[in-house]
Amino acid sequence: MKCTLVTGGSRGIGRAICAKLAKESGNHILINYRSNEAEALKTLDIVREAGATGEIIKFDVGDKDEVKTVLGGWIESHPDDFIEVLVNNAGIKEDGLMMWMKDEQWDSVINASLNGFFYVTRLVVTPMLAKRYGRIVTIASLSGLKGVPGQTNYSAAKGGVIAASKALAQEIAKRNITVNTVAPGFIKTDMTEKVPEKEMKALIPMGRFGEPEEIAHVVAFLASPGASYITGEVISVNGGIYS
Ligand code: NDP
Repeated sequence: MKCTLVTGGSRGIGRAICAKLAKESGNHILINYRSNEAEALKTLDIVREAGATGEIIKFDVGDKDEVKTVLGGWIESHPDDFIEVLVNNAGIKEDGLMMWMKDEQWDSVINASLNGFFYVTRLVVTPMLAKRYGRIVTIASLSGLKGVPGQTNYSAAKGGVIAASKALAQEIAKRNITVNTVAPGFIKTDMTEKVPEKEMKALIPMGRFGEPEEIAHVVAFLASPGASYITGEVISVNGGIYS
């Protein structure tokens, strides 16, 4: 069975990615979440309505041991199944000016996005190397490209996954495994609930926030077999903000 793993698939952009890939890839969808089982189960319903199979899988991407036990355990106990598409989507933000930033704010954001990328990808990439095929797409951010004041932690984490993806892309390109990142601008999800849309819209040439489906569309393209000669790239999906 060919599988797609989407981290943080229970809500927002991750849910839209699960729905899109369920419709287009025919793969079995592994929907990862950290705590919100009810929302993860809703995503599973959406995946099934789209005609695919799927399952929910609970682990904190930033917890090295949990990733090893749960995801590593899944891989070991499914020797005939192959995660051919990995979407590193899980992430959080904890904004604040650096001079007042607490250790916990810095660590939690770096842990979820940057360490999570490392812990999950290194497990999934080994079978990809053996099969000589794979698609790895990571959700970065505009913040990781240009830097955003109040987000030194988030900009560092997202800039980190962009650089790590570019490096990994070169390490494994010969095995037909592509590694790309998508850098969204402002997208309507729980994460941007408190962002003042009226004020921010003025900064966006298209004059609106994006929808999760507009990110999912680009992820589905990069995850498709046809996107075989694109690797180490960053695609901005931000309504025209110069980055
Ligand atoms: P949401 O807050 O709506 O959803 C976050 C998702 O990530 C949830 O499914 C949550 O699971 C999961 N998650 C968070 N931390 C962990 C963790 N440690 N381990 C496993 N799962 C985790 O966020 P968005 O959908 O808006 O964001 C998705 C990605 O896109 C993030 O990486 C974010 O940084 C990025 N992004 C978002 C932008 C936006 O404007 N919305 C802009 C640029 C980038 P649970 O439901 O269990 O809590």
